[in-house]
Amino acid sequence: MPTCPRCHQTIDSQTIACPYCRTTLKAHGHPGIPLHRANGETYLCSSCSYDEDNTCNFPQRPYAKECTLYHDRNQPITLNQRAAANWQTKLTYTLQHRQEWWILSGLLIISLAIALANR
Ligand code: SF4
Ligand SMILES: [Zn+2]
Repeated sequence: MPTCPRCHQTIDSQTIACPYCRTTLKAHGHPGIPLHRANGETYLCSSCSYDEDNTCNFPQRPYAKECTLYHDRNQPITLNQRAAANWQTKLTYTLQHRQEWWILSGLLIISLAIALANR
């Protein structure tokens, strides 16, 4: 059984937040997206495969204390993990750097909803 990185209580591997100390353990509230955390004063990037091969374009690099994509550079990367990392990097970049489009899209949808409601 895994343990909480903060309080070290035994927890369920699918739990989104530690039931004892409320530390967030999964990203975006999804049990399938683990949220990795650095210990102490270290940064995750210094031991991450995607920093080593220079394929990471996350803005928090090289000082990430939390990251959903972290992969220990001492562990081999499978093709599935590489594909998932590429997809997640693109999605995160889009969410973080195209905020104006998300806002405009939201306003457009709200406007259409109001227009349709007033027909
Ligand atoms: S994937 Fe995360 S931990 Fe790895 S280099 Fe990028 S920001 Fe750092
Ligand atoms: Zn805990």
